[in-house]
Amino acid sequence: MLIERIRRAITGVPVAREAIVSQIITRTLLIVLLMAGLVATFVWVAARTSDELSIERQQHVIATVLEQNFRAIAHDQEAATVWDDSVRELRAPRRDAQWLDDNLGIWFHSYYGHDEIFIVDSRDRPIYAMRGGRRYDPAAYARSIGSAADPLIAELRAKIRNGFNVPKATSVLSPGAIDLGTIQGHPAIISVKPVVSDTGEIVQKPGTEYLHISIRYLDGSFVADLSRRYQLADGHFASSPPADADLSRVALRTRTGTLIGYFIWTPFRPGTVMLGQVMPALVVSLLLMFGTIAWLLRRISRSALQLSAAKVHAQHLANHDPLTGLANRALFDRQLSLDLARVGAGGTSLALLYVDLDHFKNVNDHLGHPTGDLLICALARVLGHVAPNDLVARLGGDEFAIIHIADNAAKSGERLARAIQKALARPIDLGHGEVLIGASIGLAVAPADGIDPVELVRKADIALYDAKHRGRRRHSFFTEPMGERIRERNEVERELREAMRTGAGLDVVYQPFFAAQGGEPLGAEALIRWNHPTRGTVLPDSFIPIAEECGLIETLNEWVLEQACFTAARWPTGTIAVNLSAVQLRNVTLAERVYAILKRTRLSPSRLELEITETSFLESSEKCRSNLGWLRDIGVQIALDDFGTGYSSFKHLRGFDIDRIKIDQSFVASIQLGQGGSPVIQAIVDLARVSGLTTTAEGVETEQQRLFLKSIGCDVLQGFLLAEPMSARDAEARFAAALDK
Ligand code: C2E
Ligand code: MG
Ligand code: MG
Repeated sequence: MLIERIRRAITGVPVAREAIVSQIITRTLLIVLLMAGLVATFVWVAARTSDELSIERQQHVIATVLEQNFRAIAHDQEAATVWDDSVRELRAPRRDAQWLDDNLGIWFHSYYGHDEIFIVDSRDRPIYAMRGGRRYDPAAYARSIGSAADPLIAELRAKIRNGFNVPKATSVLSPGAIDLGTIQGHPAIISVKPVVSDTGEIVQKPGTEYLHISIRYLDGSFVADLSRRYQLADGHFASSPPADADLSRVALRTRTGTLIGYFIWTPFRPGTVMLGQVMPALVVSLLLMFGTIAWLLRRISRSALQLSAAKVHAQHLANHDPLTGLANRALFDRQLSLDLARVGAGGTSLALLYVDLDHFKNVNDHLGHPTGDLLICALARVLGHVAPNDLVARLGGDEFAIIHIADNAAKSGERLARAIQKALARPIDLGHGEVLIGASIGLAVAPADGIDPVELVRKADIALYDAKHRGRRRHSFFTEPMGERIRERNEVERELREAMRTGAGLDVVYQPFFAAQGGEPLGAEALIRWNHPTRGTVLPDSFIPIAEECGLIETLNEWVLEQACFTAARWPTGTIAVNLSAVQLRNVTLAERVYAILKRTRLSPSRLELEITETSFLESSEKCRSNLGWLRDIGVQIALDDFGTGYSSFKHLRGFDIDRIKIDQSFVASIQLGQGGSPVIQAIVDLARVSGLTTTAEGVETEQQRLFLKSIGCDVLQGFLLAEPMSARDAEARFAAALDK
């Protein structure tokens, strides 16, 4: 569920890239297949159309050729039937059979290929017969073809009965009668022509002409001739149409329309031939194309997947912290917006936990950054373990956030916070040692604290701030007054910046301190004041922590230091004590900076005392502390301020490069109240003395306190009893007066 939440936050929608890529490949291949199919279909249709056109044309040509062949037979006959010699020979009392063979019978067979020739006289009696190149008995005429030729003979006789004229424009020399017919089951062309004079010198009585009958069987040599001449495959005649639809045919009918059969052949199909030649090449090309595209797609898909894997990786990097592998701020922001939108829609609630390690900086400074990193990773593991179903993010440094969604997120969020504290109560094993570190946790709850992500983050941050200020190792829920305090704090910050920018309102006052025994002034402590136009005089306790938090403190303190050094340089004598902040102590350039100010203000280093707190001293790294050692070497004194409020450990003190201890005013106050502060102060003074340190008591307000401190051997006294903080001019006058005494 969490994974899906994160995936949605990263990508917007859950997607399976592999599925999309394979879908694209499948679709592309289908399109390619479709296109290949279209090309193949187009080629096939073109071939079919070409075949059909060719067949149609062949049929037309064959029909025309047959027609021409019919006419050719009649035309052949005219070569010998329109001839005076033929008329003469036929009408001669004794016909020369050989002459007839050579000119009207066998000659037609051998020269024109006519199959049978008959000649009938004026009364239609057969007088000559030839079959297959041989003369035979004319009496067989009636048996063989008589009935087939009779109608044509009658037709011709009718035509020429009254004489005839042949139209001059035509190539026809004599009238004739021609038709198709069936002779003893064989289809044949039967042509009848009269034997007439070519010169016109021989005059015959119309109707008495001899008739020349020529027969050409269509299923004999005629077919072979035709097929050879027109290159027809399997050309033949048949009485019925072919069963095979692939064969072409031309129907043969007599002039009266009687079907006598079909001329059949296997048509030439140029499209099919072309297809036969082109198809293998086409198939190979298509296969190659298909293969190439498939290969290309595979490569594209592989690189697309690689690209998408790289994208996923880049996305992961863009959304996760490289050190811990947890979600980073970008992913956290998106996830929070999405989850809050759901919370806004009702039903559930959300707790936002801001977790921050306490004093993590110390770990980094003292144990080094690699150890700091190990600790961050250890904390990441702890958080991941405690909140396995929640989004845990590292927002930066030692700052973590948890988005916890539940029916009652406030309650379970608090349980979570306690579980984190409990887990951190045990030392964390970093492999080469154990570290005990606490964490502060701020909680804001939606929808109670609002459902705007920016607002909720701000409120969790405020709660975290509160937890830290309440002493760390604890958790705080956001409350409105907290927000008010923060607003106030922010306002102070803004105004402080402005004051620092313009320099208006900021001032340094000086509180002298005195020798406990002799009472002479030994120096003064520089204390900052902020004379606010509306708030009046603002004391440092209320703005120094703010300046420390928002990074203004170094500039501010250096300004105070410079002012103080300038002021003290005008005094004839005396030490100027200046407070340092922890931030300054952590800065490795501290010694350089202080030295530069001393140079600028021409103050002797031995007249400067820097006050640091025990805590800030302990929190600073070895390297930074060596800065103080160096400053001490040139004569600057170091005092431990507010002693007794921190660790107050003399064990620590031994290792410190310090000159003085300033006993915190709470101890001094307890002298007056009689709360047993005295033995503690006594012990501090004694121990300081044996450690070679001088002591200053702060906040001396009563004579009783002064006497007590003097009696126990405290070296220096500072407090309202002796002098209140005063202006630079007053302090100068005070020192001048003291010198005069
Ligand atoms: P501190 O360094 O311990 O300074 C002494 C504080 O005690 C001063 O308060 C001073 O006015 C006050 N004080 C002195 N004598 C008496 C007394 O008899 N009775 C009482 N009740 N108070 C007395 P102030 O000026 O408000 O400063 C408070 C703290 O602010 C200082 O404590 C110091 O830690 C910090 N501070 C002041 N000025 C600076 C500064 O320029 N830089 C930094 N970093 N911190 C400063
Ligand atoms: Mg001080
Ligand atoms: Mg103090």
